[in-house]
Amino acid sequence: EEKKSLSFVEQLVEKDISEGKNAGKIQTRFPPEPNGYLHIGHAKAICMDFGIAEKYNGTCNLRFDDTNPSKENNEYVENIQSDIEWLGFHWANIYYASDYFQKLWDFAVWMIKKGMAYVDEQTSEQIAAQKGTPTEAGKPSPFRDRPIEESLELFYKMNTAEAVEGSMVLRAKLDMANPNMHFRDPIMYRIIHTPHHRTGTTWHAYPMYDFAHGQSDYFEGVTHSICTLEFVPHRPLYDKFIDFLKEMNGEGDNLNDFRPRQIEFNRLNMTYTVMSKRKLHALVTEGKVNGWDDPRMPTICGMRRRGYSPQSIRKFIDSIGYTKFDALNDVALLEAAVREDLNMRSTRVSAVLNPVKLVITNYPEGQTEEMVSVNNPENEADGTHTITFSKNLWIERDDFMEDAPKKFFRMTPGKEVRLKNAYIVKCTGCTKDADGNITEIQAEYDPISKSGMEGANRKVKGTLHWVSADHCKKAEVRVYDRLFNVENPSAEAADFRELLNPDSLQVISNCYIEEYAAQKQPGDYLQFQRIGYFMADKDSTNEHPVFNKTVGLKDTWAK
Ligand code: ATP
Ligand code: MG
Ligand code: MG
Repeated sequence: EEKKSLSFVEQLVEKDISEGKNAGKIQTRFPPEPNGYLHIGHAKAICMDFGIAEKYNGTCNLRFDDTNPSKENNEYVENIQSDIEWLGFHWANIYYASDYFQKLWDFAVWMIKKGMAYVDEQTSEQIAAQKGTPTEAGKPSPFRDRPIEESLELFYKMNTAEAVEGSMVLRAKLDMANPNMHFRDPIMYRIIHTPHHRTGTTWHAYPMYDFAHGQSDYFEGVTHSICTLEFVPHRPLYDKFIDFLKEMNGEGDNLNDFRPRQIEFNRLNMTYTVMSKRKLHALVTEGKVNGWDDPRMPTICGMRRRGYSPQSIRKFIDSIGYTKFDALNDVALLEAAVREDLNMRSTRVSAVLNPVKLVITNYPEGQTEEMVSVNNPENEADGTHTITFSKNLWIERDDFMEDAPKKFFRMTPGKEVRLKNAYIVKCTGCTKDADGNITEIQAEYDPISKSGMEGANRKVKGTLHWVSADHCKKAEVRVYDRLFNVENPSAEAADFRELLNPDSLQVISNCYIEEYAAQKQPGDYLQFQRIGYFMADKDSTNEHPVFNKTVGLKDTWAK
């Protein structure tokens, strides 16, 4: 195995271990908010969070950051779990931030009683207008110095069904002049009346991310809280709230004192797609795609449905690495990883996507032969299957040219080609309709040219795939292009909807696939020989097989 240099996160973790921090214990968490499906960006965080725990004999927990009931539900909770499992990772425990609502509430009450927090009755616009700029101090709220008793009473009122959403918030009394804007009396609690998917209507006041995340890490015993770069400016506040929590608990602060450490890496951005959950939501609810698992989506379930293997996603994440700088990764790199992995994994089958009839004129009508087809030349253990050969075949229309240039090594009158796993045939002509469209091609086969026979060894340039007309199934094939027309939709001024590629889905309904392939199910990795990688779609039935094109055999984007 090749030696990879340590990522900066691994270096930090190894330093902590060597210094004996937390007695060498390593505990991480993956903290999704259950307000959407996981996407390839989350996979990067998952590989990091679970990867560090695995590598350093630690544990990684799955924690749902469910502090905003207005956007969260159980469907997301369940699908997030199945996506992580599909990627091949195992959590030690499942936790919910909502399990800490009482503890967080008690902490907030303690802060109010200490004069460290107050209820602000201004509108969010007024609060925003007083924030100031990084170089100019903010203005204190007129409620900043209200009596502790008043804040306490109002905080309890915030948590009742009668409280009006947006009428009050609880703010930490920190520093309105701090150059770090997150210290300018950050909001700790707001009122939300949407019932919570786990706690129902028990709560009406809900903690903000900054007042929940670090504390949740602390309650659970997380040692390394790894997140993305946009949280760098939140880190001092993350540490500050933990200081307060320790103060409340009467704990000291020395090296062996437990304290989670926030570490940030660059988030994954990929060309020709968007990763923001708000935008992905819009694509789904506005019907721009066919659900979260639409194969064009950057979601894990979309990629799974399209035919990507979990191993290829993990290899891709591994290859791009973790840095301290945001970048835009080329989706072609992901596709290359998929191609490389599926080459080792996929079963080779025959399918004709743009069919034209080929008649072997000297082959007896009604006769059939079972030809042996190797399942995977990269792995002998995958064995073989048979494909039926007969007089009437389908081949690709593009594999025939009536007046071909010299370098055309496919089918053209007077020349020989090999039919994959079968005979060498020589084209003798073709038939056209009144408009000049080719309706049938004729060829003669050489009966001693099957693999292993004496006539098989002569040099024939070009091997074509085919299926037998009476021994195949009609199938629908869905071919996907980029979801967006521009490399970086998020960087454009235009609304992202305007940047959608109108031709991102092409449905080919008149394909023929060999019977063996027609029985394949979602989850079976296939290569349609000479075309690309494919997988049966969840819409596929026995009567109406449907296949997704996962990726072509070669990168054809670089035109
Ligand atoms: P959005 O900003 O679109 O709402 P999010 O970051 O809030 O997404 P979460 O469910 O909170 O989504 O994310 C869970 C974890 O996954 C967080 O630790 C977050 O940093 C990480 N994550 C989210 N998007 C990416 C990404 N594009 N690249 C790497 N990590 C990501
Ligand atoms: Mg979010
Ligand atoms: Mg988030």
